[in-house]
Amino acid sequence: MRYIIATLASHSCLQILKGAKDEGFRTMAIAIENKVSFYKRFKFIDEVIGIPDYKQFYLLENRLKRKNIIIIPHGSFVAYLGKEGDEKITLPYFGNKKILEIEADRDKQHDWFKKSGLLLPRMYKNIEDVDKAVIVKYHGAQGGYGYFLSPDKNTLKTKLSKNKSLNSKIFLQEYIVGVPIYLQYFFSPLDNKIELMGIDRRYETNIDGLGRIPADMQSKMNIIPSFTVVGNFPIVVRESLLPSIYEMGEKVVETAKEIAGPKGLYGPFCLETVVTSDQQFYVIEISCRIVAGTNLFISGSQYTDLSYGEPISTGRRIAREIKKAIKLKQLDKILD
Ligand code: AMP
Ligand code: AMP
Repeated sequence: MRYIIATLASHSCLQILKGAKDEGFRTMAIAIENKVSFYKRFKFIDEVIGIPDYKQFYLLENRLKRKNIIIIPHGSFVAYLGKEGDEKITLPYFGNKKILEIEADRDKQHDWFKKSGLLLPRMYKNIEDVDKAVIVKYHGAQGGYGYFLSPDKNTLKTKLSKNKSLNSKIFLQEYIVGVPIYLQYFFSPLDNKIELMGIDRRYETNIDGLGRIPADMQSKMNIIPSFTVVGNFPIVVRESLLPSIYEMGEKVVETAKEIAGPKGLYGPFCLETVVTSDQQFYVIEISCRIVAGTNLFISGSQYTDLSYGEPISTGRRIAREIKKAIKLKQLDKILD
């Protein structure tokens, strides 16, 4: 029976379904009702199913089970269904759900990166230990709203004493002076190989707009920085940085097997890094699924061009992996 590649209609849905169609699959988008007509504009989507809100997704599951669906998760799954909602999906799902638990827990992520030998910003459990500039983050901060920087311990104490309610919710991380770089990888369990799919940086409001305001005005305007993503820019890095980029991806995949069962981390994932002037990559976070920055490369990136010589997006790469698994009768290796 023919398989249908399906996903929620947002985030990187267009890329995923375009890639699936290019690989010969039937495609389905599950959309909030007021978005149905938008997604129907695209010829590579065979069917758009409308639901009144994302929580109704489960009501569809039985109907979809009869249709031989494979679900491709992306950033909207955890954002709109919640971690528990995502874990509860019973349809065949491209990704290891055990990773969700680790990804949601900053301490577990930290241990994973440590095990992988990656360079990390220092985390301070105690304010008294702060000995350099820090970024102050909040649990559950939407779009990094209200994250702030502090140049030293005393300024930090003054800032926190003005808003005592914050103290229990914050965590303190060494601020890495450098440039943000997002590394988009794909790990194929069938080929046992890591691939670099593309590199981007984010365009974040309002933090990327602050530099447009003269410093003397900034100091009078009391602007609260936020990191809400609006879009992404493509990046190509110095070629001499590429070997360490591949190594980092390989190490993360290797140690994932120790912490998230034998399937470990597979398919697309992204390391959020800051690169310093001595060309060291500090790893800030990981996303264990397709990230929206891959939408830059719907017709391939500089890096996929080196490997494939044809336009391969991350969405299309996922579909190709599924196609190969079907042919080899190894779907169990890549579905949860
Ligand atoms: P949306 O489909 O725009 O409602 O976004 C769904 C989720 O993905 C939200 O949590 C967004 O913050 C996140 N998201 C969407 N686009 C991007 C992007 N370009 N970079 C990072 N996160 C994104
Ligand atoms: P996050 O919420 O972790 O995605 O971070 C939001 C923004 O803050 C991103 O632009 C990051 O690059 C930046 N950022 C987060 N942590 C650090 C850090 N330790 N040093 C420097 N920049 C950071």
